[in-house]
Amino acid sequence: LQLNHDLPTQAIPPMPTSSELLKMYNVRARKQLSQNFLLDPLITNRFVLCGAKDLAGHHVCEVGPGPGPITRSILQRKPERLTVVEKDHRFLPMLKYVADVSNDRMTIVHGDILKYDLSQCFPQELAKDWHKASPPFIVFGNLPFNVSLPLIFKWFEQISRKDGMFKLGRIPLVLTFQREVVERFLAQTGDKQRCRLSVSAQNFCDIDYKFIIAGGSFVPPPKVEVGVVKIVPKKTFDINLPFKKIDYVVKHTMHRKSKYCKHSVKTMFPPKRSDLVDEIFRKSGVDPLTRSNELENLHFRDLCYAYEEIADRIPNLRKVDTYGENEWSKTYFDANGNAKDVLFE
Ligand code: SAM
Repeated sequence: LQLNHDLPTQAIPPMPTSSELLKMYNVRARKQLSQNFLLDPLITNRFVLCGAKDLAGHHVCEVGPGPGPITRSILQRKPERLTVVEKDHRFLPMLKYVADVSNDRMTIVHGDILKYDLSQCFPQELAKDWHKASPPFIVFGNLPFNVSLPLIFKWFEQISRKDGMFKLGRIPLVLTFQREVVERFLAQTGDKQRCRLSVSAQNFCDIDYKFIIAGGSFVPPPKVEVGVVKIVPKKTFDINLPFKKIDYVVKHTMHRKSKYCKHSVKTMFPPKRSDLVDEIFRKSGVDPLTRSNELENLHFRDLCYAYEEIADRIPNLRKVDTYGENEWSKTYFDANGNAKDVLFE
C-alpha cells in the first residue's frame, strides 16, 4: 500500500529507522511484556490511515509507541500535535530521536497508560458536543494484549459515563487486538464467539474491522494473527447505564452461554429467591428458555433495566460480584435469601 501523495505529508529528515535504533541502543523486545514491533512502514502507514485520511489539524495520542515506527507514520501525516505515552524507559532515547525532528510537535510522556489521564493530551477548547461529529482528536495504539483489554474496559466505562477523555466528545480509537478478540467484539446473536465483550462493545461503540496483520509481520512474531479496528463511541446507547452495571448482568447471563438463560440469570440472586428470578423474567419479557447466546442486545437491555429495578429495592444485591457458586450469599443473605444487615465492608 502506498501513501496517497495528494494528501499533506511531512518527510521526516534522514535518520536511523526504528530497527536500526533498536540495534544502536541494544534494546531487545521483552517477551514477557509481549513487545512485538511493527517495523514495516507499509503496515504502519496503513494503520495510521485507518484513523483519518488527513491528520492536519488533529491532536493525536499514541499509546505504547515503543521504538516509534507508528509514531513516524503519524508524524508524516502532519498532525497539529502528537503525544506518546510509553511505560518502558528503554524506548525514551529512541522516541527523543523522533521528537527532535518533529518541529516541536511531539511530547513524550513516560508513564503507564492504565493510570494516565489522556484528556490532558487534548485541548479543551476543541471539545465537541457528544451528539455532534467527533472532535479532531485520535488515539492510536499497538499495545500488548494484556494491557489493551483492561484499557478498553476502562474506556468503555468512561464512554458510558462520558467522562475521562470522552468528556471532550466521541474520540475515535485505532487499536490492535488478537484476531480472536476482534471476532468477539463483532460477534452477533448465535455466533460461537458471542460473549460478554460483544454485548458491551456493540452497545457503546461502532466497531470497524480494518485489516488483519499476519503474526510474521511483527518482530519478534507473536503466535497469533492481529486485527486492526477503528472504534468510535456511539451517539446513543441501547442500554444507557454505566458499563460496570451492564457488564455485571451480561457476565452472569453469558456464564453458560449455550444453556437456557434461566440457569445463568438465577446466579444474580440469592438461593431460594426464585421469586426474584421470576420477577426479572416477567419485567424484562425475556423468555427464560432462550439460550444465552441467542439473546439480542435489546434482550440484555430489558434484563439490565429489570435488574436495576430489583436491585434498587433489595439491599445488598449489588454487593455481589461473583457468578456460579452461591458462596457469597452467606455474607449478605440468610438461608432464606433475605438480605442481612452488613455493617462493615
Ligand atoms: N507501537 C510499537 C510498535 O507497533 O512497534 C510497539 C508495540 S509493543 C506491542 C507495545 C508497546 O507498549 C511497548 O513499547 C511497551 O513498552 C508499551 N507498553 C506496555 N504496557 C504499557 C503501558 N501500561 N503503558 C504505556 N505503554 C505500555
